[in-house]
Amino acid sequence: MIVKPDGVRKRHCGDIISFLEKNDLDIIGMRLVKLTATTAGEFYDIHRGKPFYNDLLAYMTSGKVIVIALQAENAVARMREIIGATNPRDAAEGTIRQLYAESIESNAVHGSDTPENGRREVGFFFSEKDLLETT
Ligand code: GDP
Repeated sequence: MIVKPDGVRKRHCGDIISFLEKNDLDIIGMRLVKLTATTAGEFYDIHRGKPFYNDLLAYMTSGKVIVIALQAENAVARMREIIGATNPRDAAEGTIRQLYAESIESNAVHGSDTPENGRREVGFFFSEKDLLETT
């Protein structure tokens, strides 16, 4: 998961991390970083060519973010459930994006959408030895 620049700017990091803990998602890696255009571009490579791609990169490099590696049974599905829909207008009541997101772009958090992407995305920011796995 990533707490995106709007989440950090609006001081929602604590609230968002609290959500993870309350939902039994174990934090095994966490760092505050500022993404470069190169890293953000590679991270969101799947969206390259889409109309919002350049804006997304500008936004993701506009401020600090918190990158978080999580561990749990069904971590991706459970984390996606508490994040809510991409557009906060469609996000279910009580989800992170319904509570804290500003817009479809500035939507407070990123969450990996599949276990494969989760592994790939954790690898962007953490080496094996960085991760304090609980099992
Ligand atoms: P996610 O997995 O729920 O984050 O959604 P996607 O993978 O589809 O999109 C990645 C990110 O791109 C979203 O979280 C938004 O920040 C941004 N995004 C997606 N769709 C749009 C759009 O239609 N317009 C804009 N401006 N940004 C978008």
